Amino acid sequence: MLIDGQWLDPNANKNFTVTNPANGDAIAEVVDGGRDEALAAIEAAHAAFPMWADKTAFERADILRRAYSLMIERKEDLARTMTTEQGKPLKAARNECQYAADFLLWFSEEAKRVYGDILPSPRADQRFMVLRQPIGVVGAITPWNYPVSMLTRKLAPALAAGCTMVLKPAEATPLCAIETFKILQEAGVPDGVLNLVTASDPEPIGNVFVSDPRVRKITFTGSTVIGKRLAAGAGEYMKRISLELGGHAPFIVCEDADPIHAAKGAAAVKFLNTGQACISPNRMFVHRRSLEPFTKELVKRVGRLRAGNGLEEDIGIGPLVNEKAISKVARQVDDAMDNGASLLAGGHRLVDDGLDKGTFFAPTVLSEVTEQMLIYREETFGPVAAIVPYDDDDDVVAMANDTRYGLAAYVYTNQMSRAMRLFESLNFGIVGINDINPTAAAAPFGGVKESGLGREGGREGIEEYLDVKLGGFAI
Ligand code: NAP
Repeated sequence: MLIDGQWLDPNANKNFTVTNPANGDAIAEVVDGGRDEALAAIEAAHAAFPMWADKTAFERADILRRAYSLMIERKEDLARTMTTEQGKPLKAARNECQYAADFLLWFSEEAKRVYGDILPSPRADQRFMVLRQPIGVVGAITPWNYPVSMLTRKLAPALAAGCTMVLKPAEATPLCAIETFKILQEAGVPDGVLNLVTASDPEPIGNVFVSDPRVRKITFTGSTVIGKRLAAGAGEYMKRISLELGGHAPFIVCEDADPIHAAKGAAAVKFLNTGQACISPNRMFVHRRSLEPFTKELVKRVGRLRAGNGLEEDIGIGPLVNEKAISKVARQVDDAMDNGASLLAGGHRLVDDGLDKGTFFAPTVLSEVTEQMLIYREETFGPVAAIVPYDDDDDVVAMANDTRYGLAAYVYTNQMSRAMRLFESLNFGIVGINDINPTAAAAPFGGVKESGLGREGGREGIEEYLDVKLGGFAI
C-alpha cells in the first residue's frame, strides 16, 4: 500500500494473503486497507493535486515516458509476477505488459495535446475561449484479469491530464499493482500524486470514493453489477464516472468466410486468458453452411491446448481465478447440456497431473446452443466456446444484438459490403472484422448498453479526466 509516497509494511499492519491460482500456494502477504487508509490516500491525493496540475504537460509527459521505459525494462519480471499471481501463460503475460506500457507512452504523448478552442460568437464584442482542465482527485477500482494494463489504462491518462489518483486493485492481484506503482514512483511521480490502497474487502473503499467530496471522478473496470452500484452512488454526489463493464461478445462467421481461418481466430481469442476477458466471444454464430468445417477445426485446435502452470513451456490454458469461477462455468455447461446442447470437447474440471491443487477447467466446445440456455445470455468468463448455427444475415444481427451487453463483437467475412453492413448494425462499442485483437493504446476502448460508459485509450481516453471550462470575454 502506497500513501503519500510511503509504502506500508505488511508485517506491521493488518494483512491478507495472495495465492497462486495454479497450485493454491501462498505467495505473499499484502497490507489490508479499509476506510481509514482510503481517507488518508484521498487526503494525500487532494493535497498533491494543485502541484501536479500546475506542472507543465511536458513535465508530466517526461515522467510517463520514463515509466514506459522502466516497464519495458522490467517486462520479464512483471510478467512472471503476473503469471504467478493471476495464472495466465507467460507469453500472454508478456503481451499484457507491453500493452500496459503502451498506455504510458501513448498518454505521455497525449498530455501535450490537451488543446483548447477559440470559438466565434454571435456578438461582435464577445470572444469565447474553451479550456480543458484536470478534474481533480480520481478514485480508481480495477479487476484481476488484466492486472497491469487495466491500471495503466486509467492512471496514464489521469496523470497526463494533471489529475491525482487513489487506486484500489483487485484482491486477487495486488502484487502486479505494487510493482506497477513502484515503477511510476521510480519514474518520478511525486509523493501523493498516485496512491495505492490494497484491500481484501472492496466495499468500504468504494463507499469512500463515492461519498468523499474530494474525489471528483470515479473510474471502474469490473462487473456490471458493481459498476451500476458505483454509478448510482456517484449519481447521488454528481461525480463524473467511467465504467468498463462486462461483455457478451458475438463472434459471427458468415457464409462467405473461410471457416478454417475463422476457427483459427475463434480458438485464439476465445481461450485467451482462459476466457477471462471482457471481450471474449460468448456466442459463436456460425452460418449453417460453414458449421461442419468450422467446428471440426475449432475442436482440433482446442484439443491441442495444454492446461497448467503458466510458467511452464507450451501452456495455453491457465487456471480460472477461483472456485466460484469454476462453479459458474460448470453450471453453464451443465445447463446447456440439460437443454440439448452437444458437448464436443472438455466440459469438466481438470484434476489430473497435479492440476487438482489449482482451479483448472478443460477448454470446452458446445454446439447447438440456443437462447433457452444460460450461456446464451450470461457472461461466461471461462474457457467455453458456445456455437449457435444460423441461416440468414438479418437473423444473426438480431440474435447478436439480443443482449444487455454491448462491448465487443467479431465478424468473419470476405465481402466488403457485408462487413460494412454488419459493422454498422452491430450494437457494440468495438467490432473486429476478420480481426481478433481490435485493441491498442491508440484506439478508444469501451462499450455501449450495460457494458459501460466512456472510453479508455485513444485520444478519447484523456477526455475522461478533463473538465471543460468556457470563458466569455466581452471586449
Ligand atoms: P468485480 O467483482 O466487479 O471486481 C472488480 C473490482 O471491483 C475489484 O477490484 C473488486 O474488488 C471491486 N469490487 C467488488 N465489489 C465492490 C464493491 N462493492 N465496491 C467497490 N469495489 C468493489 O469484477 P471481477 O470479477 O473482478 O472482474 C470481472 C468483470 O470485469 C467481468 O464482468 C469483465 O467483463 C469485466 N471487465 C471489463 C473490462 C472492460 O474493459 N470492459 C475489462 C476487464 C474486465 P475485489 O477484487 O476485492 O473483489
